[in-house]
Amino acid sequence: MVVELISVGTELLLGNIVNTNAAYLAEQCANCGLSCFYQTVVGDNEERLQETVKAGLKRSDILILTGGLGPTDDDLTKEVVTKAMKKKLVEDEKAREMIQTYFDNRGMEITENNWKQAMVPEGAIVMYNNNGTAPGLIVESGEKCAILLPGPPNEMKPMFEEYVKDYLKKKNPEVIVSTTVKLCGIGESKVADMIQDMLDNQSNPTIAPYAKTGEVHLRVTAKAADEKSANKLIKPVVKQLKTRLAEYIYTTDENTTLENAIVDLLVANKLTVSTVESCTGGMIAARLINVPGVSDVFKMGHITYSNKAKKKILGVKKRTLEKHTAVSAEVAQEMVKGVEMVSKADVCVSVTGLAGPDGGTAKKPVGLVYIACSVKGNVTVQEYHFNGNRAKIRENATASALTLMRKCILEYMTETAFMK
Ligand code: ATP
Ligand code: MG
Repeated sequence: MVVELISVGTELLLGNIVNTNAAYLAEQCANCGLSCFYQTVVGDNEERLQETVKAGLKRSDILILTGGLGPTDDDLTKEVVTKAMKKKLVEDEKAREMIQTYFDNRGMEITENNWKQAMVPEGAIVMYNNNGTAPGLIVESGEKCAILLPGPPNEMKPMFEEYVKDYLKKKNPEVIVSTTVKLCGIGESKVADMIQDMLDNQSNPTIAPYAKTGEVHLRVTAKAADEKSANKLIKPVVKQLKTRLAEYIYTTDENTTLENAIVDLLVANKLTVSTVESCTGGMIAARLINVPGVSDVFKMGHITYSNKAKKKILGVKKRTLEKHTAVSAEVAQEMVKGVEMVSKADVCVSVTGLAGPDGGTAKKPVGLVYIACSVKGNVTVQEYHFNGNRAKIRENATASALTLMRKCILEYMTETAFMK
């Protein structure tokens, strides 16, 4: 079933207010299993609103309009929709009473144009407004229906929750269910390349790739009569993704983050962890410490920004710094060895890099980052080249450090399982 959103208001066209109603309704409609192919913003203009409503009624099953239900002359939505659906306006007694009470309670005088809000299209379902004066309306005509909601979000949202949600669910008993497959250590284009045939042949479920910093998420979405049937459609697709992309997938749980997955790995394998950071300035430690339960495994996190700190706290050699500079594989390695010595943690990670904007050279450009990870004394060092501004480079370095940690821990687990 296809729904279409029409936001009415010249203020929206001028950019004076942000169209938050459309964002809210689009999300709600998707949750109700409805497809939305069009969203329109139209000003308080009778002719153009008429055109928009007519086009909407032709191409969609349900129209949801917000705004323009008020008492003033520029509020035209109800009149235009009534006319387009070939109905007459009649007075609704309860709406009239509620308007009276609303004004009495506030000690305000009712002006003649307020009574306009008690007029409803004949046969319409009236949604009484507990937070304002304009009632909302559901107008049906044959297979089509128009749902009219007030513009102010504090009136529109409760009305949607109270009346519209159930109405839409009854009209369209389908549900939409999604599962997110989260990957790290692989770029979006490589993922797309590895599942191109699946992307080309998708229908139900659909597969949508989203690029995140240092991660790629694949959202698998199915439409079905109920949740169980939708999950049945999703399951084989996720299984196929797991077969193809296994090593990169860190979770298929919507609420699990990369740091969650790493802390779970550490806890399950009784491995402690320490960090030492230069350009990321504690961001790796912060992400790990965001995870509840990390206290069982997190030992210490250093920020050794200056060379002096690298020497003093971690025992990085003066010679190494002079010969290779602070941003080098050699220094990353000595940093990780240093923190391993100081903390005696099973898993250690170090980062040193150039976040910019200044300080880059032809040999060592801004964005060059070295990350080292040691698991039980086994060190892996990797060189990275990141693009973007200082913040982006630091975020990327943080995500890459977490990804490298995960990879090294998994390798260690495979090796020890093999030796057993
Ligand atoms: P009123 O009875 O207050 O006139 P109405 O149903 O006629 O309500 P509008 O006059 O179109 O609605 O809008 C009233 C107010 O509602 C706007 O000034 C704005 O603050 C808010 N509003 C309207 N449309 C939207 C929208 N699409 N997104 C967010 N806010 C909106
Ligand atoms: Mg208005």
